[in-house]
Amino acid sequence: MSGWPAEEDLASKEEDIQVVSGRCYECHVQCGVLVHVRHGKVVKVEGDPNYVNQGALCPKGLAAMRNLYHRERLNYPLTRTRPKGEADPGWVRITWEEALDRIVAKLRQVKAEYGAHAIAIGQGTGRFTVAQHLRLKNSLGSANTIGPSHVCRGDAGTDPGGRFILTRQAWQDRL
Ligand code: SF4
Repeated sequence: MSGWPAEEDLASKEEDIQVVSGRCYECHVQCGVLVHVRHGKVVKVEGDPNYVNQGALCPKGLAAMRNLYHRERLNYPLTRTRPKGEADPGWVRITWEEALDRIVAKLRQVKAEYGAHAIAIGQGTGRFTVAQHLRLKNSLGSANTIGPSHVCRGDAGTDPGGRFILTRQAWQDRL
């Protein structure tokens, strides 16, 4: 797992730094960023003065580097080795192949026992992956999608029964 860059890495050595133009993906807006990279490691993120945000970034965008290098960032699949409810889950690293095999097996089991509509595809705010989520949902045969709008805003205002909606109707209204 990557660690937070050491102080000497963060020190200014302009001659080693490559500045890469990009977009902040911490929310939908995608402000323009200039990413300073030294020897393959990001050492600074700042707003791009030549993009529509005119060099400004919100605190979330400015802190994006912390997401990248946070010591608790999840960079590979883990599985628990102790029952749910125990204070220590006993996390153990597994391969991506094993993780995907387990997920597929579980989805097949749920579908066989309860039907495809027992499965809902959930996501956070969109990062241009909505089409993939809908495709997965469609290939599973489920009509159910959950997004942040169904938990904290948007449809909550039109739902007299509460704040949480499984969204066959909500998505049909949008498509
Ligand atoms: S800088 Fe802030 S507003 Fe801009 S894309 Fe990143 S998170 Fe969104």
